[in-house]
Amino acid sequence: MLNLILFGPPGAGKGTQSVKVAEHFGLVHLSTGDIFRANIKGGTELGVLAKSYIDKGQLVPDEVTIGMLRGEVEKNSGAKGFIFDGFPRTIPQAEALNAFLSEKGTSISSVISLEVEEEELVKRLKMRAEVSGRSDDADESVIRNRIEVYKNETFPLKDFYAASGKVKIVNGIGEIEQIFSDICARVEEAKA
Ligand code: ADP
Repeated sequence: MLNLILFGPPGAGKGTQSVKVAEHFGLVHLSTGDIFRANIKGGTELGVLAKSYIDKGQLVPDEVTIGMLRGEVEKNSGAKGFIFDGFPRTIPQAEALNAFLSEKGTSISSVISLEVEEEELVKRLKMRAEVSGRSDDADESVIRNRIEVYKNETFPLKDFYAASGKVKIVNGIGEIEQIFSDICARVEEAKA
């Protein structure tokens, strides 16, 4: 299996690139943010719970997110591989992911770190707010909070995965097609 993590701060372009990478390599794309939003739209119990955290720019609790992600992986038991977008976002999530991929006899192939500096992120998210209709993009203090949460909870994952030599850095600034081809090149290196 080819199992990729697209890692990076909010607004780095993970969603845009994940769709393209999934199609290119024939992977199942799992975006925890998209799954939460679909649940919010559908008015499910999970959606109501998730919304109370998302609207404040906080993370949904680990046990909820891990349970949901595990369910999505199980639903796609025939997959050639996965691209995880927005997951893991904490060390316990990464540990849980390692554990259940290993139960399935597989592991993370590569972690692509999409790098964009902070002021550019804020600019992009404020622009996205005008078209996305996302409540967590509409307010600059919520955007700043998401970036703080990223720095404190998620950024340490880079060292967690670097220890196993799996992290590949890609510059997230530039043309979408250029960034996509850089990501594909790094994935091919990991496969080789
Ligand atoms: P972005 O990366 O642009 O902030 P996402 O769509 O990936 O947006 O996520 C939106 C929100 O969903 C996050 O701010 C967080 O509240 C919640 N969320 C998404 N993935 C996770 C996760 N792995 N763990 C906890 N909360 C998550």
